[in-house]
Amino acid sequence: MLHAIQDAYARIKSDLYPTPLIRSYHLEPYFGCAVYLKLENLQRTGAFKMRGALNKFSVLSDDAIKGGMVAASSGNHGRAIAYVCKSKGVPCTIVMPQTAPPIKVANILALGADVVQCPTENRFKVAAQVAEERGAIVVPPFDDNDVMIGQGTIGLELMEQAPELTHILVPVGGGGLVGGIAAAVKGLSDHTKVYGVEPEILPRYTESLKAGKPVAVPQNHSIADALASQQPGDVNFPVVQNYVDGMLTVSETAIQKAHKLMITEGKIFCEASSSIGLGAVLEEKITFTATDRVCLVISGGNLSLDQLSSLIDIEI
Ligand SMILES: *Cc1c(COP(=O)(O)O)cnc(C)c1O
Repeated sequence: MLHAIQDAYARIKSDLYPTPLIRSYHLEPYFGCAVYLKLENLQRTGAFKMRGALNKFSVLSDDAIKGGMVAASSGNHGRAIAYVCKSKGVPCTIVMPQTAPPIKVANILALGADVVQCPTENRFKVAAQVAEERGAIVVPPFDDNDVMIGQGTIGLELMEQAPELTHILVPVGGGGLVGGIAAAVKGLSDHTKVYGVEPEILPRYTESLKAGKPVAVPQNHSIADALASQQPGDVNFPVVQNYVDGMLTVSETAIQKAHKLMITEGKIFCEASSSIGLGAVLEEKITFTATDRVCLVISGGNLSLDQLSSLIDIEI
């Protein structure tokens, strides 16, 4: 898969921001070692989803996309697809959960896309219906090889920016991000471990890896709203099984604490979903030695100030 990711990078690089990898001295006391943050919250459209969206478009002909695009998304994938559709001048419909944060809906509407809202668990079915009605192509948020390969370009940048990394902690929804990153990193480094991190109330990968096949868990609603998937993608699961070193789960309380800490101590304006790796460290789901060099993938930064008000009373 490494070569496919390298080929994708050559195609989409000029439209991407090769986001900075920064050292976070303020967070190091919680880890006991060097900590780095990969700032995909600064990516165009505010999240890494731009990478998968661009790669998907790069493999489709103009003729294939002329009916437009449809995506089911909790927000960030939809925004990336809407952005690319706008730049290509093709129609776009994004199907979003009723519970999606209003700022994510507003950002998509601002790009000229139509938004259809429905219950979270129906979003893929509704997207398929809309695509059928409008003669459009559905771009899945994770369960698609081209999308996962696009997300994997983060792994190439990381190995260029800091080949000495010993651990990379990646937030997990359907598994496109962690699958792509792990495939790239494992192809380039034999000393870098890649861990996925998911909400304890949505343990689809932990359960599926145990079962040896993708299984669905109840559609609980996590404050990590970008990690809403109920089950691993069929395309993503074998890649995660093959390349990822371990899967960690984090409680809702620890995700909130980590979110507060990421903003106050880390000085990083990111989503709750992107703080989940720090949550795993706070809960000691993983520990490090002094010589380790750990990277947290800060996957997105699409949140509004009012989403932070609930953090004021959280005790760290
Ligand atoms: C989509 C998303 C994830 C999870 O990515 P998957 O490919 O679904 O595992 C993590 N963080 C943010 C901010 C996202 O938008």
